[in-house]
Amino acid sequence: MQEEILKNVREKRVKYIHLQFMDILGQVKSVMIPNIMLEKALSEGIVFDGSSIAGYATIDESDMRAVPDANTFQIMPDDPKTATIICDTYLPNGKRFEGDPRYVLQRILKKAEDKGFRFVTGPEFEFFLFKMNDGKPSLEPNDYGGYFDFGPVDKGEEVRKEIVGIFADMGYKPEATHHEVAPGQHEIDLRYGYALTIADRILTLKAMIKRVALKHGLYATFMPKPIFGINGTGMHVHQSLLTLDFEGNKFYDPNGKWQLSDIALHYIGGLLKHADETTAILNSWVNSYKRLVPGYEAPVYISWANLNRSALIRVPAGRGIKTRIELRNPDPAGNPYLQFAVMLAAGLDGIEKKIEPPEPVEQNIYAMSPDERREKGIKSLPESLGEALHHLSRSEFMKNILGEHIFNHFLHVKRREWEDYRAQVTQWEIDNLLPIL
Ligand code: GLN
Ligand code: MG
Ligand code: MG
Ligand code: MG
Repeated sequence: MQEEILKNVREKRVKYIHLQFMDILGQVKSVMIPNIMLEKALSEGIVFDGSSIAGYATIDESDMRAVPDANTFQIMPDDPKTATIICDTYLPNGKRFEGDPRYVLQRILKKAEDKGFRFVTGPEFEFFLFKMNDGKPSLEPNDYGGYFDFGPVDKGEEVRKEIVGIFADMGYKPEATHHEVAPGQHEIDLRYGYALTIADRILTLKAMIKRVALKHGLYATFMPKPIFGINGTGMHVHQSLLTLDFEGNKFYDPNGKWQLSDIALHYIGGLLKHADETTAILNSWVNSYKRLVPGYEAPVYISWANLNRSALIRVPAGRGIKTRIELRNPDPAGNPYLQFAVMLAAGLDGIEKKIEPPEPVEQNIYAMSPDERREKGIKSLPESLGEALHHLSRSEFMKNILGEHIFNHFLHVKRREWEDYRAQVTQWEIDNLLPIL
C-alpha cells in the first residue's frame, strides 16, 4: 500500500500532501508536507502539538503523533499537485490517543462487527452558499431558487455541479444532488457505505465545498440555522446494519411487521431511548437548536414514522438490501465520527436490551397540541444546547462510548459556549421587551 502511494505520488507529480484529521468540534485540521517527506510520514507519522487543537489534549500530553491511514490517500482532482490523507492519532508511548474522534468510531464499529453487524451510513449533506462581502461571509443567498429548481434561476448550480464532479472523480459516488428548499441552499446525497469511510468522505467534502465555493467568490456554510424564518441545514443520516460481507441486510425481514426485522425495531427503540443523551453530539452548537423548531422539516419530537417527515426517525420505502432508517436530527456542523459512533451505540444498545419502540406516529406532530402529544407519550428533543449538555453530563452510557477524555473535553468546551451565549442580550429582547418594560 505504502509503495503504491509513493509510486502514485512520483508518477502523477504530486507535490504537496495534506495530513488531515478532525478536532472534536468537527473542524478539519491539516498539516502540509512536501512529497519528499511522505515516505517518512507514512512509516512514522508526524508529531504535532495536540494542546493547540480544540478539545484534543492538555499541555502535559501535547506531543501527539498523526499516523496516515494509507486507505484514505486521495489526489485532489481540482488541484492534482495536492493529495490528502487522513490520520489516526497516537500518544508518544505508541498507544492510540483516547481523544481521537476517529478512534471512538473505530472502537464501536469493531464492537458491532464482533456481533456480526457492518454499520453503513448514507448522509444527505445540506449547506448554504452565500455571497461574500468585503472578504467576509454575508447572509445574502447566491440565488432565489427553491426545492429541486433547475436552471438560470440557480447560479449555485454551477458550483454544486463542480463539487459533485470533483467528488465523482475521487470515486465517491454522489447519489444525487439538488437545490434545497431555501434560497441558496443545496444538498449532496452520498451513496451509503461503511461508516468510517463515509465519515472520512464528509471530512473531505466539508473542506472541498468551502474551497470550491471560495474559488467562485462564495461562502459555503454548514451552520444549522443561518437565517430565521426559512429552513435550516440538516444532515439526515440513512443507516442500516448489514452482514459482514455487505451482502445481506439485517434490518430486513419479509415476514416482519412493516417488513422490518426485530433487529431494526430494537435499533429504533435504542435510538429513541437515547435520543436526549445523544443530541448534544448530533446537534453540537448553540445554533443547532434554532433549527430544531416546528415548521421547517426539522425534527422536534422524539418519535418514529414510516412516512411522516416531522418525526425524528423515518423508515424510507426501500426494502431488501435497501432497508434502512433515516435519523433526521444530525446537522453537518458536527463531528461525523462522533455522530456516527453515538447513533450506532444507541442502536446496538436497543438490540442488546431488546428495546421495543413505541407505535409509529404517522400524523403531523407539529400540528398536535401539547395535550395530544402528552396523551401519545411523545416527548420533545432538548430545546437548547444547555439542556442537551445536561442530559449528556448525566449519561454513563455516553461516557462509555466517548471515553472519559472526549466526554470531559466536549462538556468543558461546550459548556463555555453555552454560558457565553446565554449571557448575551439579543436583538429580540431589545425589540420586544425594552418597549414594554
Ligand atoms: N433542511 C431540512 C432540515 O433542517 C430538511 C429538508 C429536507 O431534506 N426535506 O432538516
Ligand atoms: Mg434529501
Ligand atoms: Mg434535504
Ligand atoms: Mg431526508
